[in-house]
Amino acid sequence: MSAGDRNQGTAIEDDSSGPSSGEPCDRCGGELSVIRIVVDGNTLLMESCDGCDTRRWQLAGERIDLQQALDQVGEHAGRRR
Ligand SMILES: [Zn+2]
Repeated sequence: MSAGDRNQGTAIEDDSSGPSSGEPCDRCGGELSVIRIVVDGNTLLMESCDGCDTRRWQLAGERIDLQQALDQVGEHAGRRR
């Protein structure tokens, strides 16, 4: 047997090549639809669940509130009035 080439402590290869981010919904465990928006060079991520209508927002990898997300988009789009 040719052993020794293989690392124990297998690295998890989580190369997300699918449309979903891989993380299931907190509430119902359903699949999340991920929408990616680039705002001012930052990636804004919206994850929405078809099952329970939960929505989560992330900015540059950090979880943020809806209000913060709206602020980001609003800043970029310019305010009305
Ligand atoms: Zn859900």
